[in-house]
Amino acid sequence: MKDTCVSGNAGDVLLRLRTPAKVNMGLKVTGIRPDGYHELVTVMVPVALYDRLMFKASDGEISMTADGYFVPLGMDNLVLRAAEAFFSSTGIARGVSIHLEKGIPVAAGLGGGSSDAAATLMALNRIFGNPLDGSALREIALKLGADVPFFLLGRPALAKGVGELLEPIYDWPLLWYVIVVPPFQVSTAWVYQNLKFSLTSGNLDSNITAFNATPFEVAGFFTNDLEAVTAARFPVITRIKELLEDAGAEGALMSGSGPSVYGVFRTETKALEAQAGLMSMKLGQVFAVPVENKVDGESEATGGWGVVKR
Ligand code: ATP
Repeated sequence: MKDTCVSGNAGDVLLRLRTPAKVNMGLKVTGIRPDGYHELVTVMVPVALYDRLMFKASDGEISMTADGYFVPLGMDNLVLRAAEAFFSSTGIARGVSIHLEKGIPVAAGLGGGSSDAAATLMALNRIFGNPLDGSALREIALKLGADVPFFLLGRPALAKGVGELLEPIYDWPLLWYVIVVPPFQVSTAWVYQNLKFSLTSGNLDSNITAFNATPFEVAGFFTNDLEAVTAARFPVITRIKELLEDAGAEGALMSGSGPSVYGVFRTETKALEAQAGLMSMKLGQVFAVPVENKVDGESEATGGWGVVKR
């Protein structure tokens, strides 16, 4: 998450920020808990594909508007659920108007809803004077969704358990990701329901040492236990992987529960060439983005978004 602007007085605080998508580099299902939650090992990488959020503190209700890709605006929306969780856990009797500009395709395996939820928690915490410490934020985040704690961290990480065990990976190489988003959505719940639970051998942990290899070895990370489920229903996923590899990718993989498929490229030039080639095939939207860089800033003017009470 990046702050882009904070302005106004206590009663009229405006905070505008952008929040990234993620891809999973490798994903292994390692267990299933008695409560039905699956335990995973995965490397999660934030990438420079963003939703944008604007917050305005108020003395009224929690309200929300949105544009861009369609998302529901009721309490199913993770932005509203995160805002409600923030106010109920802090006891702060205030409200907030939120506008979401949805630039991350929805139900695509790119984690946009989780990213929005984490950004909302961090933004409200900042606007209202940091009443929650890191561990309280992480606890609320995990209740909102398994991927939400990762977006609080906001840097490449090895994620284990149901998403609560995160080990940041520093010095992640500046790789480029060409992400193909086919024109259909996949329900994460459906994928897990259809997962034939035969555990695969190996453990991504051991591959972490490959991060330190020179040159960086990506080959060990192109395996996703969920891919067989989604690709059996949507064979175009396998086709897109082949096309990305033909276009020169170091490797290609479905992200999360899909259907997005990405290829990893070492240079921007190669990534943009691959993007152009894949766009001409009309398989879906094609993005070419680097890993999210926490250091870069972004300057945008505030204002211009209307806010309507829910
Ligand atoms: P996951 O794997 O976490 O289920 P995903 O990355 O495949 O997610 P998301 O874009 O996060 O997909 O959307 C998952 C579901 O969450 C969709 O059905 C969508 O309607 C719902 N949703 C609720 N709030 C949001 C939001 N702010 N942005 C995107 N989706 C949202």
